[in-house]
Amino acid sequence: MNYRETPVRETSTSAPATIAAHRLSALRVHILYTGGTFGMADGGAGMCPRSGIGDEITDIITQFEEAEGKSVEFRYAEFDRVIDSADAGPETACRIAEWARSDTESAQPDGVVVIHGTDTMAYAGARMAFELREIAVPVVLTGAQIPLGHPGSDARDNLHLALNSIAARPGPGTFIAFGSALHRAVRASKRACDNYDGFTTLGEFAPPLSPPRAPEARRHSAATRLPVGLLTVFPGMHADLLAAAIRHYPGGIILECYGSGTLPVDGSETIEAIRNATRHGTPVVVITQCDSGSVDLERYRPGRALLDAGAIGGGDMTREAALAKLGYLVDRGLSGRELHRWMTTNLLGELSNPAAPRAIHTQDTHLTAWSRS
Ligand code: ASP
Repeated sequence: MNYRETPVRETSTSAPATIAAHRLSALRVHILYTGGTFGMADGGAGMCPRSGIGDEITDIITQFEEAEGKSVEFRYAEFDRVIDSADAGPETACRIAEWARSDTESAQPDGVVVIHGTDTMAYAGARMAFELREIAVPVVLTGAQIPLGHPGSDARDNLHLALNSIAARPGPGTFIAFGSALHRAVRASKRACDNYDGFTTLGEFAPPLSPPRAPEARRHSAATRLPVGLLTVFPGMHADLLAAAIRHYPGGIILECYGSGTLPVDGSETIEAIRNATRHGTPVVVITQCDSGSVDLERYRPGRALLDAGAIGGGDMTREAALAKLGYLVDRGLSGRELHRWMTTNLLGELSNPAAPRAIHTQDTHLTAWSRS
């Protein structure tokens, strides 16, 4: 991977003097700028992230204070090398989560804002949600479709939305504040690159009533991390593509199948590749390409073949949440049955449990097409 980051640099951007006077009632936030369109500029070779935007952030916060009548006390930090989020790897989200964790432990702000590129914001947010399961404050990612200072920019409004979201005290968790909505990161997906509302919430956020304790980590060293991958099934997919994906991602594969969990099984080479993977300890988790509904591997013959080959049903998890959860569990050293159990357990609202068939909605009738006893 030709991706390189240097540690986060703290910049001592301080709020205007009026803020200090209202210190007691001030909203206390920590802001990390990682890059993305939010602060980009076009140097002639396409838009690139720009560093050193602390003064512009201060201006936006001053405008927020004036517009909302709230005072804000904030700390601001930037990645030393800000990035287009297309260059983010799984370790980027872990690094941001680590920053948020240590920062909130030491200073206890009301919330954390992470300014991030939109392209991989939902992937990062989902991973951070798992990494930060025990954090005590809201962590809100935001960004922009049009850079700061450009006509029609949504950067300021989105940062204001993130601040207002923290001020509304939504409770702990990882969120995406964008356009007109606040999304739970484990349910969010980028679905528009030409619209201020770039993100959608897919499915229903239903956290467990009593969250299970975090799966115990068997391993902590980043050096031993096994990569996990994601592959979308399509008509004509060659079994060799899947076999290559399994080779490159020994940690496990999220397989984005059709409908309730089907894929071409004629000739069965694909199924054999999956069987081979699961036998050798590489989990294969099936999710759906549909925006609503849940995987049910018992419904169709291809789904049964997947089950028989040892695949795990991923219920109604989004692709971003499924990938994040698999990476989180594998990085903790979980495998085999234990991994299967946690993958199919709703940890923080990423999975509707039980992943049961839903009613089929017709125009004016709600039919339950099948039910299990
Ligand atoms: N390519 C940009 C990024 O993800 C897109 C954006 O931020 O909207 O960093």
